[in-house]
Amino acid sequence: MPLADHARFPLLFGPSPVHPLERLSDHLGGARVWAKREDCNSGLAYGGNKTRKLEYLLPDALAAGADTLVTIGGIQSNHTRQVAAVAARAGLRAVLVQESWVDWPDPVNDKVGNILLSRIMGADVRLVRAGFGIGFKESWHRALEDVRAAGGTPYAIPAGASDHPLGGLGFAQWAEEVRQQERELGVFFDTVVVCSVTGSTQAGMIAGFAGEDRPRRVIGIDASARLDETRSQVAKIARGTAELVGLGRDLRDDEITVLAGWAGDRYGIPVASTLDAIRLTGRLEGMIIDPVYEGKSMAGLIDLVRSGDIPRTSTVLYAHLGGQPALNAYSGVF
Ligand SMILES: *Cc1c(COP(=O)(O)O)cnc(C)c1O
Repeated sequence: MPLADHARFPLLFGPSPVHPLERLSDHLGGARVWAKREDCNSGLAYGGNKTRKLEYLLPDALAAGADTLVTIGGIQSNHTRQVAAVAARAGLRAVLVQESWVDWPDPVNDKVGNILLSRIMGADVRLVRAGFGIGFKESWHRALEDVRAAGGTPYAIPAGASDHPLGGLGFAQWAEEVRQQERELGVFFDTVVVCSVTGSTQAGMIAGFAGEDRPRRVIGIDASARLDETRSQVAKIARGTAELVGLGRDLRDDEITVLAGWAGDRYGIPVASTLDAIRLTGRLEGMIIDPVYEGKSMAGLIDLVRSGDIPRTSTVLYAHLGGQPALNAYSGVF
């Protein structure tokens, strides 16, 4: 069924802002670069890409009679913080399983930034020891059981709201929004650059743009340091989402582009190019990006524009997906 017929609980201010990055574009000396800002897409706890995805999961949770959203992420997860905010907004409880996905030595890692915000919003924050993974974990099943044992009705949201049948719809809607903004602004973004980890952000975009006649590239920059997993996750979710919105054809493999080269060795650990990208974007544009995700995708964009892999004639849309609260746990590297 068409995207417009899927139930949506409005959480955003409206279309997220789109604006040119003029000084960054001049500095790179190639393609013109614009940004679309999920970091200021809503008034819910600093927003971000997960808030947009949750517009389509929340109606399903409410229809199921849930009173508690249960989800999982790393200690400085942006996703769990956004679930806490959405739960507050909808009058639900939130249980957040926070695993040690990132071995990050900052002494305030489990006290500031995202996890602090989740605590302020009243979420039940549970710290557990377990490594990085985007699957459904044992601690997560235990959290669901605890809610049931206490007489509640949990609604399970996987990491990043990705491995969920409705996970791709939010960014299929984003694609629709981009088309509308292009008409208003009189521009066409032939290339979109987006950070990919759990995959449904890029996957939703691919499905949402796939019905167009005019060619457009959606370039995912892997930030998980596990390229094959990210790519297969993006492909799977993109195909599921395309089917859900009635695209009417199969997606081709060449529509799924996820590039490695900027993640470093490990998820959550910034490398030199990440920090350079964060400083450059801050100093030229006053735009703040984070060391886990957006610093890595911006590093990719910078290299692809400089090298001409993205040609000079291109107009590029950089999807800023949020994530700045995590910076508080990374002060040491600056
Ligand atoms: C979750 C997240 C991403 C990655 O999005 P996926 O849908 O998990 O691929 C990128 N940037 C930020 C700031 C995020 O919070």
